[in-house]
Formats: sequence, C-alpha cells, structure tokens
Amino acid sequence: SAALNPLKTINEEIFSFADLKQKEIDELKKLEAFRKEFIADISHELKTPIFAAQGFVHTLLDGAVNDKTVRTKFLKKAAKSLDGLDMLVQDLLTLSHIETGQIKMHFENIDLYKLTEEVFEQFENKADKKDVHLRIESQNRQVMVWADWQRISQVMTNLISNAIKHSFDGSEVVVEFTQGKKNVTTHVRDFGEGIAPEHIHRIFERFYRVDKSRSREKGGTGLGLAIVKHILESHNTKTTVDSTQGKGSVFSFKLPRMKQSGTEAEAE
Ligand code: ADP
Repeated sequence: SAALNPLKTINEEIFSFADLKQKEIDELKKLEAFRKEFIADISHELKTPIFAAQGFVHTLLDGAVNDKTVRTKFLKKAAKSLDGLDMLVQDLLTLSHIETGQIKMHFENIDLYKLTEEVFEQFENKADKKDVHLRIESQNRQVMVWADWQRISQVMTNLISNAIKHSFDGSEVVVEFTQGKKNVTTHVRDFGEGIAPEHIHRIFERFYRVDKSRSREKGGTGLGLAIVKHILESHNTKTTVDSTQGKGSVFSFKLPRMKQSGTEAEAE
C-alpha cells in the first residue's frame, strides 16, 4: 500500500502520468493534422470561385468590356461565381458555429408538417423549373416533435434542395412522416440519379461530392450534408440513407415526439 511503499506509488503515478501525456499529445497531433487539412480544403474551395470571377473581370478590363454581349455574359458569370463564394462562406460559418457550440440550441415543440410547407415554399421556383412536384405524405396534418425549429428547418432545406437538384425532370419529391409511439421519422425521398454504394458512406464529409464539376455547376458548396449531420448530432440523432443508382434516394432521421431528459431545455 502507499503507506508501506510510498516510492512505488509515486513511480506508478509518474508512469500513468506519462501515459496520459502521450495520449494527450497523440490527440493534439490528430487535431493539428485535421486543422491543417481543413484549412487546405477551405483554401482550395475558396480559390475556385475567386479564380473564376477574377478571370472574367480581368478579361473585361483587357477589352471585352467594349463588346456589349460579351460584357453582359461575363458580368453574369462573375456574379454567379461571387454568389457561390457568398454561399460557401455562409455555410462555413454555419458549420463552424455548430462545431464550436456557439449556436445555442432552442428546443421546443415544433410542427414538422408546417415547417416542411414553409421550406417547400422556398423551393417552388426551383422545383417548377424542373417540373418537380413537392408533396407531403402524412396521416396527420400536424406532426409535433421536440426539436430546434431553425436548425431542423436548415436540415430540411438542405435535404430538399439536394432532392430537387438530383431529381429526374417531371418526377416528385416526397416528405413522408411515420409516427411511432415515441418518435417521428422523417423521410425525404427523390426519384432521380441516386448515389452509388461506394460513395454513400462519404457524402456526409465536408466538401465530398460524387461529381465535383457538376455539383459546383448546380451551385453546391459541398457542405450541405456535413451541416445536416452536425445539426442532427446536436439533436442526438443521425441521418440514414437508402439509395439506388438510377432510381433515387431517401434520407431519413428520427426525432422524439416529447421532451427528452438530457436535452438542454430539460435543465431550464
Ligand atoms: P453539394 O453542395 O455538393 O450538394 P452536399 O453535402 O449537400 O453538397 O452533398 C454531397 C454530395 O452528395 C453531392 O455533391 C451529391 O453528389 C450527393 N448527393 C446529396 N444528396 C443527393 C441526392 N438526393 N441524390 C443524389 N446525390 C446526392
């Protein structure tokens, strides 16, 4: 015991302390590598739209500005690149706020049916352009869950936006609610290109895209699903994906119908 052999105890403590230190060092090294990689990724992503806008503006200054049709075309392209840059920075800020816990979650009883109708309104134009019909499938016209309205609205915005983007023209996007005793599962279903099995496990990674050039062209930042993942994690839940290439995809997540112990609001 410590009283009989104090030196032994001290030695053991020194060893376990050294052990702990090594673990901490490994952890810090991992974090440092992650941070470096993250910065490299972001720089690369930022450079793409900046480089494009720069090209158009410089070509205009070099003389293209005198030709009216070229001028309009190039200005439109530069504006599109800058809009993309703006979206990227917004998504990066959202992600960083969630990750650093700067966003205070506000849990309350929310109506997913109403929330989905509001999100659908945002996408009316986009869906019309592809002749995609937006539809809710639910037993009840009110679907109450315990969640953060603003954050879940962001989740639905990202999932529905993706669903429309990857839908076949003239198909439909269906949001379906299945209500269990304790939980409600939301499914966002599209009939479109789907995702190959080798990509499915990676689509939630930041900046991962199945088709890089096409995704950028369609106005994607590559952060939509990373944001979805983080928000659902902060609701103690996760998204599951079921997808068949050439047929379509379903993204699903579960939320509790009632206040759960352990959520922040419980401590109020
Ligand atoms: P992006 O900004 O590229 O849409 P996301 O993080 O939202 O970024 O999605 C990552 C990738 O996952 C997309 O580039 C796309 O390849 C794939 N993806 C996401 N949702 C769908 C879907 N409903 N159908 C097919 N592919 C999808």
